[in-house]
Amino acid sequence: MRPRDLSDHVEYRAGRGIEEVARELGRDPEEFVKLASNENMFGPSPAAAEVIEASAEEVHHYPTADHQDLTDALAADWGVTAEQVWLANGGDGALDYLHRATLEPGDEVLVPTPGFSYYGMSARFHHGDVAEYEVTADDGFELTAERVLDAYDGERVVYLTSPHNPSGGRFTLDDVERIAEETDAETLVVVDEAYGEFTDAPSAVDLVRDRDDVAVLRTFSKAYGLAGLRLGYALVPEEWADAYARVNTPFAASFLACRAGLAALEDDAHVEQTVETARWSREYMAEHIDAPTYESHGNFLLVDVGDATAVAEAMQERGVIVRDCSSFGLPECIRVTCGTEAETKRAVRELNEVLAE
Ligand code: PMP
Repeated sequence: MRPRDLSDHVEYRAGRGIEEVARELGRDPEEFVKLASNENMFGPSPAAAEVIEASAEEVHHYPTADHQDLTDALAADWGVTAEQVWLANGGDGALDYLHRATLEPGDEVLVPTPGFSYYGMSARFHHGDVAEYEVTADDGFELTAERVLDAYDGERVVYLTSPHNPSGGRFTLDDVERIAEETDAETLVVVDEAYGEFTDAPSAVDLVRDRDDVAVLRTFSKAYGLAGLRLGYALVPEEWADAYARVNTPFAASFLACRAGLAALEDDAHVEQTVETARWSREYMAEHIDAPTYESHGNFLLVDVGDATAVAEAMQERGVIVRDCSSFGLPECIRVTCGTEAETKRAVRELNEVLAE
């Protein structure tokens, strides 16, 4: 007895953690800073951390009321109905729900390459196939409607990551609308705004309100600092209201996640400080790193260092863990997450020394 044929499936390669790296190198975890997974440089919202502690005695309950409270709060914030908010176990979980709701076996999704690998992984889990559109370094990873529409061939779902991981680029709202307009009526355009808080561009939620073929993905993992709790959601067209009950994994957004999410959502100061610091950090890095970088609207910066694996390893030796983008198909680039002021300056100093060697 064996699993089904998984030869088309690939492993998810996450950024490396401090404990893992310290153990491997036989060093003290205290020596390291992790700028590899686009996490929040300040940790979670203190209000969320407090709620998590205070809720410990209640985790024997299933999350029902708390799920509804968070859904209602998000619906009010985005100006949509509660049925249009699909809470999930991270943005990843929301991608699964979208595929459960759209894909028949053999249907295709169109994804950017390089790009976030879970779009394709999830589509394959749901018996879908994957087609790609290229974003390339030659033109600074420009994201345009032409690029997507040239590659489009009737896929059931089209992914637009805006801001894009790992390049940091973004689509204009006009281009998103044009893509929705020029693709088939049965094609869902998913605008992944996992890094949406870090850009000053408007969310595509306006299109979700006006159309029946656009969905937006958001997460609590980045600006809200709750990556470890796993909480994200999709905002879906009004016409999809009754599908959630049929596709969601019961209670996948946990009790603690829902409670902490609500507290984090109300903690404007934490998000503002995070976003301001990320903007400062990416500008500082772009200005001071002695290598070409790409304009970023996220909480990270893509840097062309020549040999990503060698540079990432040398940085790790120096205690700064960055993302080697070889796994994205960019063997010449590293991605550095925006840190605190001290972390950012340390990363730049170490990187410039490595580049000079
Ligand atoms: N979209 C993009 C572009 C991402 O980079 C990530 C996480 N790295 C996600 C979605 C999903 O994040 P999460 O599951 O933590 O919400």
